[in-house]
Amino acid sequence: MTKLHRRYSRRELLAGTAAISLGCSGRSAGEPEFDLLLRGGHVIDPKNGLSALRDIAVSGGKVVSVDDAIDAGRAFKVVDCRGLYVTPGLVDLHVHVFAGTNEARSYAGDNSVYPDGYTFRSGVTTVVDAGCAGWRNFEAFRNTVISRARTRVLALANIVGHGMRGGDFEQDLSDMQAGPTADLAKAHRDIIVGVKTAHYAGPEWDPYEEAVRAGNAAGIPVMVDFGSNLAERPIETLLTEKLRPGDIYTHCFSGNRRELLPDGTPNPGLFAGRERGVYFDVGHGGGSFKWSVASTCMEAGFPADSISTDLHIGSMNAGMQDQVTTMSKFLALGQSLDEVVRQSTWNPARQIKREELGHLSPGAIADVAVLRLESGAFGFVDSFGARHNGTERLVCEMTFKDGLLAWDRNGRTRDDWRELPLDYGRQGESRWDGLLH
Ligand SMILES: [Zn+2]
Repeated sequence: MTKLHRRYSRRELLAGTAAISLGCSGRSAGEPEFDLLLRGGHVIDPKNGLSALRDIAVSGGKVVSVDDAIDAGRAFKVVDCRGLYVTPGLVDLHVHVFAGTNEARSYAGDNSVYPDGYTFRSGVTTVVDAGCAGWRNFEAFRNTVISRARTRVLALANIVGHGMRGGDFEQDLSDMQAGPTADLAKAHRDIIVGVKTAHYAGPEWDPYEEAVRAGNAAGIPVMVDFGSNLAERPIETLLTEKLRPGDIYTHCFSGNRRELLPDGTPNPGLFAGRERGVYFDVGHGGGSFKWSVASTCMEAGFPADSISTDLHIGSMNAGMQDQVTTMSKFLALGQSLDEVVRQSTWNPARQIKREELGHLSPGAIADVAVLRLESGAFGFVDSFGARHNGTERLVCEMTFKDGLLAWDRNGRTRDDWRELPLDYGRQGESRWDGLLH
């Protein structure tokens, strides 16, 4: 291992010097053709049906080649991934990241977190903000958070014009308007991937119908947090009549809206909704993942389509923690690693119609997570404070965003300082290291 690192350090140094002498303009003859080579890892790329040992070559922020054995001499930087799992950068379909507005007790404010502080360290390269902002405040969200983040931040526009500013705002039917919401989504097509409705406590269907109207007008899916559980608007009707194929039911294992019937069996409406093409998302959060519901649904043959965190200041410090912990919970419920990677990469990318994300096909954006599967005695806590024991825990070792290092837990891309000159300067090269400043 040490020998390998020393060898490539020198090679990098030589290549770096050559680039400088050429004024960094273009690639000269003899210069390595790949920026980065992730070598010897077990690649899990569900879109391409791949789960095997492979090398991955990256250049210009794109995946160039995925092959059995790629010559290390062809790469500027080689990273040893033996013993690790290499997956597409994780896509977290449900987060809250509209921080910085100075509004207390609000998801369009203090309940949100800035994305970069929580994403890369758990292998996440793309997040979808689940409706923190609506048409009245989305511009501010875009300008102060989304455009400043290194994380790829996409968003669902709340059907409420004020977004998730809290109780009174989110119950105001008069501020739920399909027209302005659809116009907003069309004006921000590069970022807005759907419409969200959430937290509604009244008996009306208006929030859901208005969200679907906006979704139809903008040609995007709707994600529903079904709010309070009311007999006037049963979940079966939502899933079989109100939502369209391709719409997303989040918090699917909360148990808060009769996902399980009183006799403890899964609501047949879940199966009927899936049959119609409705997607089911975990959205773990601070109150929406219950072991008994998830376990019962999975035993009945009803796994989630996507695993998401519902990241916010409450959930991250409670049972949810982060994306890889949430994935580990589904390993503990008996799902395979390949399945939980699919539910955290290609499946969510398809749900938001961003099929350029969530896979490692040659030519794809080089967002990559390098994960380690620890064995041992672990405990996982749900949103209700109940524990489930497991024997495996996923840990994120490295994350690359657009081909550049964004997180490296154990310094696997780095050289031992004792192998460097005493007066070594800042390490890393801009061809692979996104942590240079
Ligand atoms: Zn949420």
